Amino acid sequence: MHSSSDPANRQQRYREVRKVTLVGSAVDFVLGVAKIVIGWFANSQALIADGIHSLSDLLTGFIVLYAAKHSHKSADEVHPYGYGRIETLATVSLGIVLTGVAIGISYEAIKRLNDPAAAMDFTLLALLIALLSVISKEWIYRYTMSAAQCLRSDLLMASAWHSRSDAFSSIVVLIGISGVMLGYPYLDAVAAVAVAAMIAKIGFGLVRSSTLELIDVALDPEKVSAIRQHIHAVHGVRSIHTLRTRKSAGSAFVDVHIQVDPRLSVSEGHQIGDSVRRRLLQHVEEVTDVTVHIDPENDETGSPCNDLPSREEVIAELKQRWPQLPVASVEAMTLHYLSGAIDVELDLPIEILRSTDEAKYLVQELKQAVSALPYINAIQVRFKV
Ligand SMILES: [Zn+2]
Ligand SMILES: [Zn+2]
Repeated sequence: MHSSSDPANRQQRYREVRKVTLVGSAVDFVLGVAKIVIGWFANSQALIADGIHSLSDLLTGFIVLYAAKHSHKSADEVHPYGYGRIETLATVSLGIVLTGVAIGISYEAIKRLNDPAAAMDFTLLALLIALLSVISKEWIYRYTMSAAQCLRSDLLMASAWHSRSDAFSSIVVLIGISGVMLGYPYLDAVAAVAVAAMIAKIGFGLVRSSTLELIDVALDPEKVSAIRQHIHAVHGVRSIHTLRTRKSAGSAFVDVHIQVDPRLSVSEGHQIGDSVRRRLLQHVEEVTDVTVHIDPENDETGSPCNDLPSREEVIAELKQRWPQLPVASVEAMTLHYLSGAIDVELDLPIEILRSTDEAKYLVQELKQAVSALPYINAIQVRFKV
């Protein structure tokens, strides 16, 4: 059936993601440079690590921006499902970069632990910048999280949690520097390793969740059951099976088999399928694309009608067995493929009868003729004026 995604909405979403990311990036840049410069003069490894952390946020922020820009593009022939996966893929690379940064920082800090001679300087200034960092990061967390919930963006949400763990990271630095001021010089390097561990954890988490999305993770169970209820609520849907959902950068695709009255016309079946599609697009926020497969009977465990002959073959055999039937009637007959056999509905012009008795005789003869065809379950004849 038809797919739908509103380009204006996606454009709007892109602008929002960009705005939130730019604000976070500006703060990260100022903080990061300040922490590295002051960390350098103060000889604080933890503060430098925290600064690198902030700058890597900046870098990842730009990946987010790039991803949002490209994933908002409409679907085209080469990428019929849109570009949402770019956002997902970018998140994977972001996670890998963070893990690499963490390993580098730990390496440097462990080297420092073996060299206790290096003493800190300007400790009060270092302490103040760490404090400022804690406050700003918490603010970015709240700001980004509210936008993430509003836009249903997993990526923005990851970015928000990242900001909050940055606040923790600056708290650790704060403790480390305080420790140095109180006469425990090794605490700075210990704090640096702790910051590195946090960076690595975030990196692993991003890689994990986005990899799941790349291999098509379903929506949350509550969402799936809400979708199920919406489909059941559509008039004409008898049952559903093979309901599948998959997430893609804030939206979700749904495909489902619905069972309808097996003797409905194709157009009525399609009508019911379209009602299902419209209802899901309207009522379930994440859903941007729905594919409905119409079933006349439950084919979940197998298709009993697979081996039945096609319409052309049935017509050919009927013509052969019943040469006196009007060709137009045979070609216009309705076939129902159900439970491994075919039910035939045949309309005959009433003019071929001379009396009512003849109708009975004709039908009997016809049933006899098709009884040799094992794949025909029943034949129903109507005489039309
Ligand atoms: Zn359609
Ligand atoms: Zn099915």
